[in-house]
Amino acid sequence: MYDISILKEQLAQPKQVAVVMHARPDADALGTSLALALFLKAQGHAVHVISPTEYPSFLSWLPGVDSLVIAAHYTQEALLEQIKGIELLFCVDFSAASRLDEWAYILRQPNLFKIVIDHHIEPEGFADHLLWDPKAAASAEVLFQVFEALGQKDQITLSIATCLYAGLLTDTNSFKNPNTRSITHRIAADLIEFGVDTFKVQRLIYDNKSLDRLRFFSFAVSQRLVVLSELQVAYFVIQKEDYKRYDLKSGDTEGLVDYALSLKGISLAAVLKEKDDMVYLSLRSVGDIPANLIAKNYFHGGGHKNAAGGISYLRLTETVDRFEKILKDLHPQFNFN
Ligand code: 5GP
Ligand code: MN
Repeated sequence: MYDISILKEQLAQPKQVAVVMHARPDADALGTSLALALFLKAQGHAVHVISPTEYPSFLSWLPGVDSLVIAAHYTQEALLEQIKGIELLFCVDFSAASRLDEWAYILRQPNLFKIVIDHHIEPEGFADHLLWDPKAAASAEVLFQVFEALGQKDQITLSIATCLYAGLLTDTNSFKNPNTRSITHRIAADLIEFGVDTFKVQRLIYDNKSLDRLRFFSFAVSQRLVVLSELQVAYFVIQKEDYKRYDLKSGDTEGLVDYALSLKGISLAAVLKEKDDMVYLSLRSVGDIPANLIAKNYFHGGGHKNAAGGISYLRLTETVDRFEKILKDLHPQFNFN
């Protein structure tokens, strides 16, 4: 466990603070960052919240999202000018500098005290202080417990609670993933007591699809799904042209991978997404199959045991071939049950 007195000391005086989340943020990264920013602002700190890249449009209702600085919209010079004078930097929902993509320079600014709030395994050493719990289902869970440890749970507003709940809901896949512990439910219950409208939040997150997006899911299931039954693997291959055809935006493929994993007899699922000069891989697994090790050892990535991501710099077809070969080679080592 961490020593909460370090954070207390850092927050004792009003400060210039920045909160940065990982690129292509999900609801946990965005929700936890916004919750933290709302909390800090109420305590008199000046806070910038930075996302390296755009956030998914289905999260545009999150409280405080209007104040978000999207680094990709600025030159490096202009962004550094914006955050000039920052003394304290919170890094939310990541602990590998590479997850900031080309914006990792934010971490390298002088005279910054850097605090990581995260739940990913094996944090890198860039932080001055870790508020970190790899057993936590979400960074939202970590932050809630930080508020408790600070003795400031009573400072949680409905907006803060809603942001945290969004992170908890999505990182647990609606409290279905095995990372969901009793404490996760207890925290969710507390957030409900702060007034969170759970039905509304889940409608806004999951039942908020454009027709294009729903049609894209249908197309992907019928045309882009590959099933390797003998390996207990199923994966989607999404081409650049598919993005154009269905007018897909950042985050619009989220949730697709779960359809592959919903197949009977499938224990490892993936989405391989063709981007400009790389392929992004999203992996999900069941039981002891280590999606994070596959991502880390072969695709410059990482994550959690059952949910991970990575990148391939080969072309799409070559990535697919390599992906299949890796899984064939690894298959005998995996414990399928
Ligand atoms: P997703 O498939 O939703 O993009 O990512 C699933 C999980 O994998 C994320 O919650 C995150 O923990 C992890 N992840 C995704 N991409 C990367 C990556 O490039 N590097 C690392 N270390 N983790 C990743
Ligand atoms: Mn997370």
